[in-house]
Amino acid sequence: MSEFDLVIIGGGPGGYVCAIRAAQLGLKAAIVEKDANLGGTCLKVGCIPSKALLHSSHLFAETQHGEAHGIIAKEVSLDVAKLMERKSNVVAQLQKGVGGLIKARGVERFNGTGKIIATDTVEVTNGDKTESLKTKHIIIATGSVPVELPFLKFDGDKIVNSDHAIAFDAVPASLLVIGGGAIGLELGSVWSRLGTEVTIVEFLPTIAGNSDADISKLAERIFKKQGIKINVQTKVTGAEIKGKKVIVSAEKKGKAITFEAEKVLVAVGRKAFTGNLGLESVGVKTDDRGRIIVDQHLKTGVDNIWAIGDVVAGPMLAHKAEEDGVAVAEWIAGKAGHIDWDSIPGVIYTTPEIASVGLTEKMAADQKIEIKVGKFPLQANGRAIAQDATDGIVKIIADAKTDKLLGAAIIAAGASEMIASISAHMAYGGSSEDLARTIHAHPTISESIKEAAMAVESWSIHSL
Ligand code: FAD
Ligand code: NAD
Repeated sequence: MSEFDLVIIGGGPGGYVCAIRAAQLGLKAAIVEKDANLGGTCLKVGCIPSKALLHSSHLFAETQHGEAHGIIAKEVSLDVAKLMERKSNVVAQLQKGVGGLIKARGVERFNGTGKIIATDTVEVTNGDKTESLKTKHIIIATGSVPVELPFLKFDGDKIVNSDHAIAFDAVPASLLVIGGGAIGLELGSVWSRLGTEVTIVEFLPTIAGNSDADISKLAERIFKKQGIKINVQTKVTGAEIKGKKVIVSAEKKGKAITFEAEKVLVAVGRKAFTGNLGLESVGVKTDDRGRIIVDQHLKTGVDNIWAIGDVVAGPMLAHKAEEDGVAVAEWIAGKAGHIDWDSIPGVIYTTPEIASVGLTEKMAADQKIEIKVGKFPLQANGRAIAQDATDGIVKIIADAKTDKLLGAAIIAAGASEMIASISAHMAYGGSSEDLARTIHAHPTISESIKEAAMAVESWSIHSL
């Protein structure tokens, strides 16, 4: 039996990126994935299919609203099967690409379910076939699965999770979305644009609860204008299926209310997946939410066992999982791996997009950090006016004493691309003045970043 330097369990963005980086560094790596394809949640049922659907549904909605531009499209119709076929082709292309990269880098791939049976052995089972892999290091990258509510068990038809909601074969007449986070807002937007009556029910006082408060409030107004019904501070308490409808009972500010919908999407978060991994047998510990406990170097309490991505505490994001994977491969190779925990951007890909990095005003206040804030509304941006994208704002947060950039929040068309430049400035320890003096091309919506940074010291040129 040949020995590997590292065996990675799970072929999502954390696992496959770790494998590639390890191979680049001359390590002998193996990847164990129970699914037929690599790419994990992100490629199969997450980031990529949802973005394909967001793009298609955006085109469908735009096509019907061209009157102001003199574009009148009569009788626009929708072929859901074709739209889903395109999404599947996008997914398949990327899964194939990742498979090709893994092969080209010389990573050994094992299709089956991995289980740790000793600190140096991973057992792979596929049907009645079992094999053992000896290894110096084990990386757990088994990801996450949707959280279920006790009174709303997924049946894949009326009560669904995101795996089902990216694959409906027809446009539902109505969809009740429980949870106004990333999944609720993205998939709620997709089906609303395609013609479904969408109602979002959120437990907290705002949707997009992790975002800056100003941005969340503005987002709520914009999405309501788009026709999505939003109920914040609403706690779902029960549900029953009556004929073709699901009746959901809830409590809003102490008052009982009910919602009725053809389908209910439960989007209340995801939980770490560690089922039948054999953790107890080797002494790997989990916290009260089932996440694998790791130190700053993503090491479990067992010296040669590491865990990365959604299975550990931290933001459940593909790019964060990838960073974890790269760092662990580098640490194992004896290099100075590095993860910049303070500048991991987060994006919700609605229209407009919501993006943030670093601290919000509230986080700074909680940490008793004195800050200066600069804001710039998109109504004052030429490019935004030219392309009907004036709904939005950019907000820059800097340290009051040192001017060091601490965070940013954006709601704007293209915010997912815009946030990268702020992350870069933050990664280099840049100041709001550095950002304010960076030349941005005109006309771009990105100029709002420069203007918001100028507004930190009250010298925005295009707003008062
Ligand atoms: P995963 O991608 O979950 O991969 C884990 C892999 O491990 C899976 O392939 C699984 O089959 C395999 N596995 C599990 N147990 C075993 C075992 N015992 N043996 C073998 N294989 C096993 N993030 C973003 O950054 N941007 C987005 O736009 C975005 N959109 C999303 C949209 C949706 C609808 C969802 C659900 C998620 C989205 N995410 C997004 C989150 C992103 O998908 C995850 O953060 C990311 O996939 C985590 O990567 P991972 O490698 O940790 O785990
Ligand atoms: P989330 O944590 O983003 O949002 C869940 C929301 O549900 C929260 O606002 C929460 O307050 C609310 N909630 C929880 N229990 C509730 C209840 N009983 N009634 C009403 N509301 C309730 O989780 P998600 O949207 O399910 O997404 C799961 C994970 O996937 C997230 O960690 C997210 O980072 C990731 N994801 C990322 C993207 C992206 O980066 N664009 C897209 C989709 C998913």
